[in-house]
Amino acid sequence: MFSKLVGQEKNKHYFARVIESGKIHHSFLFHGPEGTGKTAAALELAQILTCRDKHKRPCNECGSCAKFSKSEHPDVLLFFPVQSSMKPEDKQAMREIITARPYGKTTHIKNAALHVEVAREIKRRLRLQSFLGQGRVIIMLNCETMTLETANALLKLLEEPHEDVTFIMTALSIDEVLPTIRSRCQLIHFSYLSKKSIAEALHKEKNLSMQKALNFAEFAEGSYTKALFFLEKEFEEHKKVCNRIIYCCVNESLEKVVALSEELSTKENVDKIKPVLEIILSVLKFQYKNIFTSSKAPLEPNPVFDMPESLMISTPEAIISTIDEIEKSVDLLSKNVYLNLILVVLFFKMRVILRNE
Ligand SMILES: [Zn+2]
Repeated sequence: MFSKLVGQEKNKHYFARVIESGKIHHSFLFHGPEGTGKTAAALELAQILTCRDKHKRPCNECGSCAKFSKSEHPDVLLFFPVQSSMKPEDKQAMREIITARPYGKTTHIKNAALHVEVAREIKRRLRLQSFLGQGRVIIMLNCETMTLETANALLKLLEEPHEDVTFIMTALSIDEVLPTIRSRCQLIHFSYLSKKSIAEALHKEKNLSMQKALNFAEFAEGSYTKALFFLEKEFEEHKKVCNRIIYCCVNESLEKVVALSEELSTKENVDKIKPVLEIILSVLKFQYKNIFTSSKAPLEPNPVFDMPESLMISTPEAIISTIDEIEKSVDLLSKNVYLNLILVVLFFKMRVILRNE
């Protein structure tokens, strides 16, 4: 049970117990940071609750499990924030991606929300009988994006639940979920994953050596999604940009720094800059931690992040100041500030700090 869920032993034990007892709450709110397994757990719980095997659930063999794995289960409804204009075929494609890769990185689409159509669709489907007769599950991801109208339309269903229906909602933080929804759910917390859990999962699922898996886990900050991202081609590209930024800030003329900032400030780059800056942040935080926990000098760089030496020799003060400046810039990125302005200011400040001017 829950073989696809990384770590979260406490939650696995809890669900094993309640499933065994047959006394399952009618609505859950899974909350916790990105990459901790909320979607993976929601999907697996849905499969367990609809599986037709009496002994081994999920069996991965029955007709219900087969439909589930193809994202075609008529009694499992999966909703996620979308723009109102999203086409049905695109939604279905997205459903298939989420089911196949529940730890995949979520792309944040502007104005995406759980619009009132979601509540209408749920009501329409619940008027019908269960297709396979084994209970029905409604999953709503990122329910902090639920509009007030959607929440109001769902309240009655949550208050007077159908006997065979289980609601599973997820949220990054319960504080952002409407109180009327939150108060009707059983809250299940998903905590940051341990390095060991992440490394073991990478070792098992991605065939990495244990040492390499541990190196990746070191930077993953408790998120399996982040750890998986390190294996993607896109990550390699981001890393190259990181190296260019640092090299340029430290070694090149001011004109070249301005030119790089302009080059990176194209419209297409808006979504790419944030992960690039976050990689630099991860490296700096790792270095900072190592300065105080390791007696080794000089620092052993983590082989996963082959960052330029200019970043590796910084003093603790320089590391803190750089982290500060990058965090400010990341914050500004979400506030519609002109990208070129953010970058040029950041690069100038990094130049001063890293060159010790
Ligand atoms: Zn089954």
